[in-house]
Amino acid sequence: MVAQSEAARFWLADFGGLNKTLMELHIKGNVYYLRGVINIGVVVGEEGQALLIDSGLGDRSGRRILRTLEAEGLKPVAVLNTHCHGDHSGGNAYLVERAGVKVYAPLYDAVVLRQPVWSILYLFAGADPINELAIPRFSMRPSPVDVIVTEGELTVAGVTIEAVALPGHTGTHTGYITSGVFFLGDALCSEQELENAGIPYGYSVTMCLDTLQKLRNYNCDYYLLAHGDLRRDISELVELNRGRVEETLAFIVDYLSRQPAEASDVIVAVCEHLGLQLRKVQGFFLLHPTIYSHLSHLHNRGEIVFKIEGNRLLWYV
Ligand SMILES: [Zn+2]
Repeated sequence: MVAQSEAARFWLADFGGLNKTLMELHIKGNVYYLRGVINIGVVVGEEGQALLIDSGLGDRSGRRILRTLEAEGLKPVAVLNTHCHGDHSGGNAYLVERAGVKVYAPLYDAVVLRQPVWSILYLFAGADPINELAIPRFSMRPSPVDVIVTEGELTVAGVTIEAVALPGHTGTHTGYITSGVFFLGDALCSEQELENAGIPYGYSVTMCLDTLQKLRNYNCDYYLLAHGDLRRDISELVELNRGRVEETLAFIVDYLSRQPAEASDVIVAVCEHLGLQLRKVQGFFLLHPTIYSHLSHLHNRGEIVFKIEGNRLLWYV
């Protein structure tokens, strides 16, 4: 039984301005969540043990999770990460040190969790990155990974969890289903995120489209977006995400059919098309792999080609 607590109210007051307890954030059966800038799943297992889906941003988040669970008489024993980004896994190190949790993560993401420098050097074309990229969202404290998650069932603290490969946002991004509740991580963007970001960050457009297709096949009771709300039905949102990807791909093909262009020109054109105004260097570098993932998708499908001319790599239709 999970009781009301000051700690849960503290968590929400700080993250969402809501005065709710963990008990009020009950989803179904033994499944709860901590609502915030990023939603953290809490699954209660045997003997007061709890599993977490993701750990939030930094030590502050880890501390809040631990305080909230302790106040409810729960002991966190495991964190199942959806992926390696610092806002999802940045609380790992604190929870490992203070509570001895075991970390479960998918393969590519485990590499970054263990050696976070990978998350920023791939934003900076694989080179020693500029210091401005070493922000907590990109570069968290290293975390051990005890179990590499692959698609299929796993049992932790007596709870059966289905790991679902949802790659695209990262190379091995993974969702988790338990008791009919699907924790989607960043596989799906909310309407608000699409509005704000214009073009969602992505490692692979090809994988992202396959993942959106795959998400049509589930019939869960609830779906939790990491940066959004709890939903009973995601069918319209899946179509909205797919439509946004297709629309951006079509825009790039149309743009390149009018003139050969470098990737940097494509970035500028896409920003203008979506009404995006880049103001921060972090946002600029996040857009790099995102646009390149669109170019590689189109190129690998034979829709665009490239040539090297005047020491420039030009893409064209
Ligand atoms: Zn992410």
